[in-house]
Amino acid sequence: MTASIDSLVKEVQETGSVSGLPDKHFIAGSFRALGNEALDCFDPGTAKPFARFAAGGAEEVNEAVAAAREAFEGVWRDSLPPLRGRILGKAAELIRARADYLTVVESLDSGKTLSEAKGDVANAARTFEYYAGAADKIQGDSFPLGPNCLAYTVEEPIGVTAHIIPWNYPLAMLARGVAPALAAGCTVVAKPAEQTPMTALLMAQILQEAGLPDGVYNVVTGTGEAAGAPLANHKDVDHITFTGSVATGMSVMQAAARNITQVTLELGGKSPAVVLADCDLDQAVGSIAGSIYKNAGQICSAGSRLVIERGVRDAFLDKLSAQAGSLKLGHGLRDPDVGPVNSAQQLDKVSGYLSDAKARGVATRSGGSTTSDPETGLGWFVEPTIFDDLAADDPLVQEEIFGPVLAVQVVDSLEEAAEVANGTDYGLVAGVFTRDTKKARWLTNKLDAGQIYINSWFTVGIEVPFGGNKKSGIGREKGLEGLRAYTKVKAVGERF
Ligand code: ADP
Repeated sequence: MTASIDSLVKEVQETGSVSGLPDKHFIAGSFRALGNEALDCFDPGTAKPFARFAAGGAEEVNEAVAAAREAFEGVWRDSLPPLRGRILGKAAELIRARADYLTVVESLDSGKTLSEAKGDVANAARTFEYYAGAADKIQGDSFPLGPNCLAYTVEEPIGVTAHIIPWNYPLAMLARGVAPALAAGCTVVAKPAEQTPMTALLMAQILQEAGLPDGVYNVVTGTGEAAGAPLANHKDVDHITFTGSVATGMSVMQAAARNITQVTLELGGKSPAVVLADCDLDQAVGSIAGSIYKNAGQICSAGSRLVIERGVRDAFLDKLSAQAGSLKLGHGLRDPDVGPVNSAQQLDKVSGYLSDAKARGVATRSGGSTTSDPETGLGWFVEPTIFDDLAADDPLVQEEIFGPVLAVQVVDSLEEAAEVANGTDYGLVAGVFTRDTKKARWLTNKLDAGQIYINSWFTVGIEVPFGGNKKSGIGREKGLEGLRAYTKVKAVGERF
């Protein structure tokens, strides 16, 4: 019998942790630790450690890549697509069957609220289900070269794929890379973030039970430097999927360049919500509050900039700051509106922006300080914050803060709105709030982003491609588009 969310939360409240957490790497079908080095896993809501996990390095990475290569050549590359689909479908079922446990572990590990963790687990199940259905629909093309010729393409699996995962969506982002890779016939070495390694390891149990052959899915835990870098540098990896900061993305791409390894990079954003004077104010306020305060603002596609027409600015900010001020902060497992940020390091980073803004006298419409769980006085928390009327070159406008911090830029025309919205190095997502369809279309055309939302935010699903322009990344994940990274085209020409 599986424990319910309530009993698991009670266990955490009584013991500080949950039972059944894996603490070793998963290589070639079994949980193993080659050395004795281990790291602490912290509960961001209390800032206390709740588990230890193996700290791997080049040796573990080499073993995992060798296992993935052997499984690729030996079993997975030539496995029947419907079989791959059935295994992925079974994995989706098992994720749903274990949703309560995965939800509590994800919330404890990342700090996110129970509701958000529940959503992420449902999202992971849906991702496996979606790519289960796609596994037997990966097909090539044929070309009319003449009566005695036949030319066609075959979509072959690319090979061994590395997945370097960030800490803000540990399970959901693992799923969005691993599920299409497995569906395409690739094998996997995953390196979860050192802050949040648990659900990648729990997925190893699930995939094994779903019938995935040994060596097809491997997990090496450890720091970015010790375990991530050797994986990114590995000669026998055929594709790297990386989500994280621009700086780390650059070093992953540089490592990949040495081996001419393909990359998919999702590197964050500074995404503008463009609010025009004719918008439905309440709808826009609700969407934008959700876009920046969900997951404590630690979302690459957060609406972290508000680009607003002057005429509506005061009315909008009055409503938004009232909403921001009413949000309840707390430990994720109590399911408040906003949980903690993920780590002491992240709190320091956000805190640096807040104190710098204070020192510069930036106008604050809401929040502006770091804080703690109001019930316990513990944990790493940031107040939902709004900084008003910022110049285009302000660091609060240009840099990804990755916290519940909204930067407001005021504009006087549609043209200026487009220019200001495009005025950063990023181009991940953008939003447009207006009742005027023509203006919405005009802006959609002008905005340089991989995904645009109209009168809403996070209007997404696994079906819809996602990825960034400019420094927000390379390639697209999700949807059928997301399968492309994991196949290589072989063209065949035949004369008869
Ligand atoms: P953050 O700075 O927000 O922690 P990173 O982009 O550094 O985000 O981390 C995202 C993922 O990349 C994590 O799994 C981390 O361990 C990994 N990582 C960090 N540095 C490197 C590196 N040099 N090479 C490969 N992976 C890395």
